[in-house]
Amino acid sequence: MSAVQWLKCEALWDGRAWIEPAFVGLDADGIIDTITADAADLPPGSAPKHITGWILPGFINAHSHAFQYAMAGLAEHLAPGAADDDFWSWRETMYGLALRISPDELEAVACMLYSEMLRRGYTRVVEFHYLHNDADGRPYDNRGEMAQRLAAAAQQSGIALTLAPMYYRNGDFDAPSQPRQRRFISSSLDDYDKLLDASAAALNGLPDAVAALGVHSLRAAARAEVKEVFSRGAAERPVHIHVAEQVREIDRCSEIWGARPVEWLLNNVELKSHCSLVHATHMTAAETRRLAQSGAVAVLCPSTEGNLGDGFFNLREYAAAGGAWAIGSDSHVGLSPLEELRWLDYGRRMSDRRRNVLCLKGGDDSGERAVRAALAGGMPAAGTVGGGLEPGMPFDAVQIDDSAPVLYGLPAARRLSALVYAGDSGMLKAVFRRGGTVVENGKHVDGERIRTRFHRAVAPMRDW
Ligand SMILES: [Zn+2]
Repeated sequence: MSAVQWLKCEALWDGRAWIEPAFVGLDADGIIDTITADAADLPPGSAPKHITGWILPGFINAHSHAFQYAMAGLAEHLAPGAADDDFWSWRETMYGLALRISPDELEAVACMLYSEMLRRGYTRVVEFHYLHNDADGRPYDNRGEMAQRLAAAAQQSGIALTLAPMYYRNGDFDAPSQPRQRRFISSSLDDYDKLLDASAAALNGLPDAVAALGVHSLRAAARAEVKEVFSRGAAERPVHIHVAEQVREIDRCSEIWGARPVEWLLNNVELKSHCSLVHATHMTAAETRRLAQSGAVAVLCPSTEGNLGDGFFNLREYAAAGGAWAIGSDSHVGLSPLEELRWLDYGRRMSDRRRNVLCLKGGDDSGERAVRAALAGGMPAAGTVGGGLEPGMPFDAVQIDDSAPVLYGLPAARRLSALVYAGDSGMLKAVFRRGGTVVENGKHVDGERIRTRFHRAVAPMRDW
């Protein structure tokens, strides 16, 4: 055994089952060496640190655009003279932000965001990164300048980072990009390779970092380019894409490429578990079934999808067909994993006027199914091997205060649902990364410095 530190957790859910108590041995890097319920397994003389409440694996945030945190909650009004608002008008506002944010500002905003994610229980984020160029649309001298800023934000906040620099060349299906998209654009796949190399270099030395890749959307690349990018994916190098979020996108894809977006992907690239389709909101029954069977992960971001008026994902049919899914906070109007899980379920409950729609058979528990699925889908989406809290994995975990009124005295089988449906982030006492405490009593350990820097960065942007 190489454990140098032992914890005694009153109750630990490892991703599959509760262990009470759980003795966890960590090596010098905070990697789990042993988990056992039997104190006799501990070496003589070890004095485990006592951890109260419930320990759960940290949540995985499988979809983030860090810069958008600077406008979270600021697009909830009609522009003067406007009669209506939708995804496309919101996108114009977002482009305005993308055009003005500097590398320093991105780092400060991302660091604030990541520390807030940790405070709410996410211990890993998949950054779907497409803000590559300078404000004039020219590549930075260091192609990975913005990637480096995101890596620095992850390093300072302590969150584990999967960085997915996106290929983005077109403005719409087979149409050139607009000037307002100039910070996102790669001129060719060769150009994108340089970006990927520089971005991977930015991750050097960052613990648990994963280099991913992807295409922003089918709108953003030619057909052959989408196929090429997907062909480069692997289990340890996941591929991400936004797909089928808006009805207009479905119509344009059908008209120009001759198939609906998910259908096109199913027919043209080999979708496997390392492939993540973000949103996949609008699918036919056949697409839903085929995507579920492919093993690819649907990344669902219901707080943002609700905010943008996207629609509801077909979760019940997809899950019944064995589909893998994960959650993400996307534009960051919502930052709580509990909120994402609740929204996913409540959307369907409201439209079907039924309860417990996530349960597929008698005896199933909604909260357990939701937390388990988000973890099981989050792992391949983030390119991490293994699942939950088990030997070989970093001790990335959240500590829940089980003395909270709605959680107190519950049998194991009811705990996760009570947390998901009646709990909130205030019940998170601490968050651990690689065994180290990054959030204590609800506060990030470096929160004050991170917040001061964030305030300085966004002050000039508050003229919305
Ligand atoms: Zn997105």
